[in-house]
Amino acid sequence: MSKPVVTRFAPSPTGYLHIGGARTALFNWLYARHTGGTMLLRIEDTDRERSTESATAAILDGLTWLGLTWEGEPISQFGRAQRHREVAEYLVAKGKAYYAYETPAELEAMREKARAEGRPPRYDGRWRDADSSEAPAGVKGAIRIKAPRDGETVVRDRVQGDVRFPNKDLDDFIILRSDGVPTYMHAVVVDDHDMGVTHIIRGDDHLTNAARQTVIYDAMGWEVPVMAHIPLIHGADGAKLSKRHGALGVEAYRAMGYLPAALLNYLARLGWSHGDDEVMSIGDMVRWFEIEDVNRGAARFDFQKLEALNG
Ligand code: GLU
Repeated sequence: MSKPVVTRFAPSPTGYLHIGGARTALFNWLYARHTGGTMLLRIEDTDRERSTESATAAILDGLTWLGLTWEGEPISQFGRAQRHREVAEYLVAKGKAYYAYETPAELEAMREKARAEGRPPRYDGRWRDADSSEAPAGVKGAIRIKAPRDGETVVRDRVQGDVRFPNKDLDDFIILRSDGVPTYMHAVVVDDHDMGVTHIIRGDDHLTNAARQTVIYDAMGWEVPVMAHIPLIHGADGAKLSKRHGALGVEAYRAMGYLPAALLNYLARLGWSHGDDEVMSIGDMVRWFEIEDVNRGAARFDFQKLEALNG
């Protein structure tokens, strides 16, 4: 028997619940409901400077208003920092990651060299095979993962298909900063694994991260969850969605008197459609939702269509 589906919505609490975020949450919720699984909520508050309590409250409030319920308590990513550190150190002990001690000036010189040679900046792996006795005294290193150098990393995506990343483009990226703070890349993998997430449904701006995250899964010997990177939302004119296309926060629609069902209907159609049913009940959406039916092309946000649905 296959494992029960566990999805998650993992917003960074840096502002209000954006309609793009609400659509990601909706797809995760629908897929969990459709399969009889569960959706978890993880607040990605590792970045202490940008995360705020009020943003977390606004996101929870917006999700609740939309009826996109999650299982159990929201999980604070920051609260798991010790576990992220342990996994990073375990990877060092296993020879899959290493302490690197380059200075900011050395890193800048590496970037400068890449610029001069017209190639993207890549860490040159100078501490990869160094002996720990070479570590400079009194300097705390960052932990970098040993990324594969040959071949390719393939992200098998349910929406995008197989996406291939040449490994020469994945450098030994940092998983734990020298101040002990885990990077986003690392924290997401450890959390998704520990939370038993089986399906990652998120915006396709995270597709290249998926390749790096795969490197971490492989280093740990963990199974990579099913990935589904959904196209970002554009405005009706095809340009990247911005304020001039209409309000971007769920809260604004609530304040304008929209009903949650109208907004959900509209969000569901951004990138997914089922035939040409004018209005779907929540039950219909749950019954019909399949990841494979999510379109690959950018979804277009048309404020007027949304208005018509509400009216
Ligand atoms: N916290 C990330 C964001 O808000 C999402 C990370 C993920 O879904 O893996 O963009």
